[in-house]
Amino acid sequence: MIQNVRGTKDLFFNDIEKWHFLEEKIKKVTSLFGYSELRTPIFEKTEVFLRSIGENTDIVNKEMYTFLDKGGESITLRPEMTASLVRSVIQNNLTQEYSALRLWYLGPFFRYERPQKGRLRQFHQFGVECISSPHPESDVEIIQLAYQLIKEIGIDEFIFEINSLGNESSRKTYIETLEIFLNENKDKLSNESQNRLSTNILRVLDSKDERDKAVVSNAPNILNYLDDQSKYHFDIVLKLLDNLKIPYRLEPKLVRGLDYYSHTVFEFRSTALGSQDAFGGGGRYNSLFEQLGGKPTPAVGFAMGVERLILISEQLNKFPKLNNNCDIYVVHSGESTLEYANNISKILREKNYMVLMDLQRRSFKAQFREADKSNAKYCIIIGENEVNNNKITIKNLKSGEQAEIASNLLNTIKFE
Ligand code: AMP
Repeated sequence: MIQNVRGTKDLFFNDIEKWHFLEEKIKKVTSLFGYSELRTPIFEKTEVFLRSIGENTDIVNKEMYTFLDKGGESITLRPEMTASLVRSVIQNNLTQEYSALRLWYLGPFFRYERPQKGRLRQFHQFGVECISSPHPESDVEIIQLAYQLIKEIGIDEFIFEINSLGNESSRKTYIETLEIFLNENKDKLSNESQNRLSTNILRVLDSKDERDKAVVSNAPNILNYLDDQSKYHFDIVLKLLDNLKIPYRLEPKLVRGLDYYSHTVFEFRSTALGSQDAFGGGGRYNSLFEQLGGKPTPAVGFAMGVERLILISEQLNKFPKLNNNCDIYVVHSGESTLEYANNISKILREKNYMVLMDLQRRSFKAQFREADKSNAKYCIIIGENEVNNNKITIKNLKSGEQAEIASNLLNTIKFE
């Protein structure tokens, strides 16, 4: 038997209902904040990601699905959305139309990672991006949107961590100080972190290795290196969050993996997830537009993993009973009653009832069993007698009551 590719998942029945539930909530909350959906292709020229995510990140170094197409062009299955979205906004000139461009997306992403609980090779992200405002109120708008969505889904236990990486110049000052400190403690760091000293030094701060954690606990605090402009931005973010009563935890070691962030960065975590505990994250990226050939455009956004949102909701038992029950099961006696039964089903479906009909030409008894299994509230029974007299028999499956009526009265009946 041919199996699916490792780290991918088929979704069906009950699982897909959970996705629909989540998608509905996403559509509702994004529309309350005036965000509109953007869909881009799932693959891009590799350059889009090389120029944005950063060459010394895990994504670019180890995880991208990159291949040459038959025309010899290097193509990559998107590992995240922000780069594709910025490419699309520049190409389609979308910032022209609005003072603030508010976009959301939902779709599959691809990373060659080691699969485990909550970590797949094809996974799905929902995210929003608020483009064109340099001001802290736009950071807070998307955080507020995230909060409202998480609440709507029913998740009330989670941790929201926030930090500021400052602007380019304050980050540079901090990195210089961090470099000195970490080099002094180089021998105590893991091999991976030792390598990162020359490639992606900030990532040492959020290493999970115990040796690194011990060193990093005494590292200089990035928040003490913010210059006036960076400090102003972050202070307003926190003040507005306080005002909205959005609880947060300051986490000066939170840096996020990608190169393009500046100022505010944040992450959502849940203890329901185990080791892969982050279910969302984001931040401000003021230089990405230029990196991808656009004009300077400030922006802020976040992404959440849909599979992880679903895992949390399952663990917390937050999924409502999903109602996909049949309203009416049309029981019929085979070929001679087929046309009549088809017409009855058509009328009912046009009246917005969910109707099932036997497709296996089974006995009445088997059809009644099937009707019970489908949780149908009513059966409509059509035998030769009904066809010959232009009637239908309706059976209430809860009470067991049964009545025969003229078929032209069907339109007047409410099945509740
Ligand atoms: P990132 O862009 O890495 O910050 O990812 C944002 C969110 O996407 C994470 O918090 C996860 O919820 C989700 N995510 C990232 N990578 C994976 C993966 N390989 N499998 C499942 N979810 C993922």
